[in-house]
Amino acid sequence: MSRLVVVSNRVGPLRGTARAGGLAVALAEALQRRRGLWFGWSGEVAENAEPRLQTQTVGGVTRATLDLNQTEHDDYYNGYANRCLWPLFHYRLDLTAFDRRFYDGYQRVNRRFAQALAPLLRDDDVIWVHDYHLLPFGEMLRAMGVRQKLGFFLHIPFPVREIFTALPGHDRLVRALLAYDLIGFQTDTDLQCFRDYVLREAGGSADGDTLHAYGRSVVARAFPIGIDTAQFAQMAASDEARRDAARLRAAIFNRVQIVGVDRLDYTKGLPERFLSYQKLLEDYPDAHGQVSFLQIAPTSRGDVPEYINIRQELETLAGHINGRFAQLDWTPLRYINRAITRRQLAGLYRMSRIGLVTPLRDGMNLVAKEYAAAQDPADPGVLVLSRFAGSGRQMPAALIVNPYDIAGVAEALQTARHMAIEERRERHADLMRGLLENDVTRWCDDFLAALDHA
Ligand code: UDP
Repeated sequence: MSRLVVVSNRVGPLRGTARAGGLAVALAEALQRRRGLWFGWSGEVAENAEPRLQTQTVGGVTRATLDLNQTEHDDYYNGYANRCLWPLFHYRLDLTAFDRRFYDGYQRVNRRFAQALAPLLRDDDVIWVHDYHLLPFGEMLRAMGVRQKLGFFLHIPFPVREIFTALPGHDRLVRALLAYDLIGFQTDTDLQCFRDYVLREAGGSADGDTLHAYGRSVVARAFPIGIDTAQFAQMAASDEARRDAARLRAAIFNRVQIVGVDRLDYTKGLPERFLSYQKLLEDYPDAHGQVSFLQIAPTSRGDVPEYINIRQELETLAGHINGRFAQLDWTPLRYINRAITRRQLAGLYRMSRIGLVTPLRDGMNLVAKEYAAAQDPADPGVLVLSRFAGSGRQMPAALIVNPYDIAGVAEALQTARHMAIEERRERHADLMRGLLENDVTRWCDDFLAALDHA
C-alpha cells in the first residue's frame, strides 16, 4: 500500500486526546494504517521563524511541522484564510476583507510549505491536502515537479458563482484547484456550485465526475464527512457521562434543557438563535419555568476584529433575555464562553432534550451529528437543525428550520418540547442509521479509494 501524506493547516495529535475530534482521530488512524506523514503548521508563531522543519515519529507515523512568523500569521492565517476566504465562502461578502497583502502572504506561505514538503516525498506517495488554507498548495507542488496522486478536500461550503466571482483572482484559485487529481466537497450543493463555475465561468466541460478546464482535468465529487459515531455514542452512554448528566439535570431541577454548542463565530447564527429562544418565551408562556437554554460558545479567532463584536452582542442579548424573563428560581438562559471537552459534551448532549443547531451557513456541522449520536435510543432528544448546514441536507429526520425565521425556529422549539416519545424514537433511529453507515472512517476510506482511482 502506498504511503499516505496528509497536509493540513493544523497537524493533529498522533495519539487520541480528550480534545481530539473525530476527524483528527480518523486521519491519525488512516496514517497508522499506511505508515504515513502528517505535514502542516505547528500552531506556533515564532518571531524569526526560520523555515526549520520539526519532525517527530510515533508508532510509524511522522509529524512534520513548520512555525509561522508574525507577518505570515497576520497575512496568511488571520488575513487571507480567516478574513477573506472564510467569510466569502460562508456568503458574508459584507465581512470579507479584500486585501492584496493578505493574498500575497497566503501565496508565500503555501509556497514555503510546498518547498518544505517536496523533498520529503517518495515516488509512490498519495497526498491528501485539507481545506481553504491550502487551495494553491497542490499547484505549487506540481510546479516543483511532484507527479504523485494529489487530492484535496474542502471542509467549508463552496459558494454560488455570483458570490465567488466577487473575489479578485477567483480564476487563479480555481485554476490552482484543477491541479489536483481529486477534489472533495461536503455536499452536492457545494459540488454543483463548483461545477457551475468551471462550466460557465471558466468555459470548461464535464465528462461525468471529471471536469476539464484550463488544459487540466480533475475528478470532483461530494464526500459528506461523518463522526466517530459508535465511539461517540459509547462515550455518551458511559457511567462517567451518565453521572455528569444526572448532576447537570439536578442543577436545572429537571427542566427541559435546550443546548447549543458552537465556536463563537458569526456563521453560527447565535444572535438569531438567542432571539428565537426569546420568541419562544414570548409566544408560549407555558414554557416559562419549564425550559432552560444552555449555550456553550468558546471564543475562537479572538484576534480577528470581526469576532470581537459578536461576543459583546451575545452578552447583551443574554442579559436582556434573563432580565426580562427570569424568576427568583429560574434562569432562562445560560451562556458559557469557554470550551469543554468532548467527554463532557457527550454527557451534556445526552441530558438535553433539544439540540439547537442553527448556523446561517456551515460546511457540515459536526455538533448536529454528535448530538444525535449521544442520545439514549429509549428516550432520545430532538435535533432542531438549520437547512443551511451541510448536515441539514443529510439529516432530514431532524426538525429542519430556516435560522433567519425567528418565529419559525421558536415554533420548532415548541414542537420539539411536546414531541411524543414514539416520534422521537423514530426520528432518532432514522438519524442513527445514517450516522452509523456514514461515519468518519467510511468518509476517509471513500475519499482515499477515489483518490487511488482518480
Ligand atoms: N467542540 C468541543 N468543545 C467545545 C465546543 C466544540 O470539543 O467547547 C467540538 C465539537 O464537539 C465539534 C467541533 O468542536 O466536534 C466543532 O465542529 P463543527 O463542525 O460543529 O464546527 P466548526 O467549529 O468546525 O465550524
